[in-house]
Amino acid sequence: MRNTSSGPSGFVISAGSPSTSRANRSSRSWVRSCVDRYTERDQLERLCRRFFIPYLDIGMDVYEAESGYVLHGQVFLSLPGSLCMRCFNFLRPELLEKEAQHYGEAGGRPQVIWPNGALASTAVGLFAQLILPWHQEVPAGSVMYDYDGNRHTMVISPRVAVLAGVPCSHFGALHDTGAALWTP
Ligand SMILES: [Zn+2]
Repeated sequence: MRNTSSGPSGFVISAGSPSTSRANRSSRSWVRSCVDRYTERDQLERLCRRFFIPYLDIGMDVYEAESGYVLHGQVFLSLPGSLCMRCFNFLRPELLEKEAQHYGEAGGRPQVIWPNGALASTAVGLFAQLILPWHQEVPAGSVMYDYDGNRHTMVISPRVAVLAGVPCSHFGALHDTGAALWTP
């Protein structure tokens, strides 16, 4: 882990900051996505893990319930060396089938600007917290927030506490990945 610091243009965190226990950030890049499919999230997370890039994902869904339509979303910060979306049971095989069957249930163009605004703002806050930590109560690794668009609440997922201390069994440790680039 590098012991230097940088401003908003970089991604190296100074040693001793609340974020130094997070993934070894060999890259100065980060990825934030807002895609429609779980398969796309899966691909992006795999890419980011391969190149040690922090991955911030936001997303939401609208589905029909007895009382009307329900808006639910999530903000996910996936850090290399920490828990992944599969660990949180957010990405799982049956969802791939489900989304194919029900995507667009609320219509082709549901009005989702305001919930996506709340999700995107939270993601920006998580990013700012990574590069400019201003308090000590930052989760040590990947984190997920649950958004309830009907009650207008954004809370840290209870899965974060349940998975505390559990290693990711899908991507392994940072040193297991090997060099990200190959040259002949
Ligand atoms: Zn995992």
